[in-house]
Amino acid sequence: MNLLKIKYIGGLFRASWFPLVPQMVMLIVFILLVAGGLGVTASDPDLIYRLRYTNLANLIVWSYWWPLIIIAAIFLGRLWCTVCPVELITYYAGKIGLKRQAPHILKSGWIVTIFYTLIWIVGVHTLAVNRVPHQMALYMLMLIILAIDISLIFQNRAFCSYICPVGHLLGLYALMSPFEWRADDQSICSNCKTKDCVVKKNHYRLISRSCTSNLYPAAIKDNRDCLLCTQCLKACPYKNIRFSARRPFADFFTGIDLRPAEVGFILLVSSFVVFEILSEWIVSLDILMWAPDHFTSALGITGSMANFVSAIIMFIVFPALALLVLIVLAQLVSDEKGAPLGAAIRTFALLLLPTVAGAHIIKSILKMSSQIPFWRHALSDTNGIETAQRIAAGTLELNKSASDALYPAISLIAAAILLIALAATMQIFCKSVVVQKHTGGVKFVLLLGVLAYWSIFGLTIFNWRFG
Ligand code: SF4
Ligand code: SF4
Repeated sequence: MNLLKIKYIGGLFRASWFPLVPQMVMLIVFILLVAGGLGVTASDPDLIYRLRYTNLANLIVWSYWWPLIIIAAIFLGRLWCTVCPVELITYYAGKIGLKRQAPHILKSGWIVTIFYTLIWIVGVHTLAVNRVPHQMALYMLMLIILAIDISLIFQNRAFCSYICPVGHLLGLYALMSPFEWRADDQSICSNCKTKDCVVKKNHYRLISRSCTSNLYPAAIKDNRDCLLCTQCLKACPYKNIRFSARRPFADFFTGIDLRPAEVGFILLVSSFVVFEILSEWIVSLDILMWAPDHFTSALGITGSMANFVSAIIMFIVFPALALLVLIVLAQLVSDEKGAPLGAAIRTFALLLLPTVAGAHIIKSILKMSSQIPFWRHALSDTNGIETAQRIAAGTLELNKSASDALYPAISLIAAAILLIALAATMQIFCKSVVVQKHTGGVKFVLLLGVLAYWSIFGLTIFNWRFG
């Protein structure tokens, strides 16, 4: 069903003020969030630990905004990109910029994979951009400055297409979305003389822009790259675009071929979400941190450097070892009749995605529900220093009745999400043409690897929440 035929949805997406006005509103919100974090920091680690929830800007950015755009991507596609203020800024910067062709290394996707790794290992685990409001504000400003610089040099949406790790992650999660943006009637596109949706002369229009994400609507095969910016709909003289409902996970059955950098990106994200979920429960956190803690204490490494080394072990060494085991096993059972080993790794990454996304949703829900008690105080003391001091001194008791009441429901939701992810993985495993290219032995190893990965979350959630 084409949702653009529904009066309010079609009217909204065709409106000349959409998504311009929401982007401007989000830009104001973005500026307010940066202002709300700037200068808010502390030297006492205990206070810093509490500030991440007591500072209103930090609470919104990490505990609600980020989780909500993850959930939105899985259910609705890259809807966040539609209203993202950075896209608007890059449009204006690109219009006056040098408009150079992006180099191959940018287009390969490896830069965004490396950038995301740096954000996690250096930004989150070493500089604590997710804990210290001031660091969060600097991080957001850094993203804006980087986006402007890239757009001043390269043509089209180079930042959105090749640098932005948020868009990249949302694009991969959008493969699961039950909605898709495509050309409606292929024959109209074939006979279309003007090709307004792609022509270069329309690239820098504010409204009715041709696609600057290098897509031709009639050739879109999956949800990874379309920002749902709605510009091609406005540019097309025939309004030959549909935004339609489909079966969830549909892109997994189309013979999708992940790019090598995307495989690296998925493997990294898969290790990040393991940390995100296991760090919620003290028992699983202790197990996860056993090796990194022993390694850093044996070498006498402390402070931020210990966090940095632990992050390297958790996010680079552990996944690399796991992948190595998988490759060795696949090598042992593969023969020349099946697809090459590189294809097996790509298939493995694809099969991991539903579980990675499911774990990400669970983490998002856990985060949003557990931070409810902070809202009242964050709204009355927006910079959060006084609230953090009162909590640390024991003079402020948080009212946790709402999050406690939600505990059983959230446990059930988490279990249901994990089971849905497992069911989806099994269906992809049995039906996807990408999986069927492999011989029986390799398929068995892939299944073993994916089930082992799923079990990390299964064992944690079921023991922690129901044990
Ligand atoms: S989407 Fe519209 S403008 Fe683009 S080729 Fe098809 S008919 Fe032409
Ligand atoms: S295909 Fe259309 S909606 Fe998607 S990014 Fe390109 S112009 Fe925007």
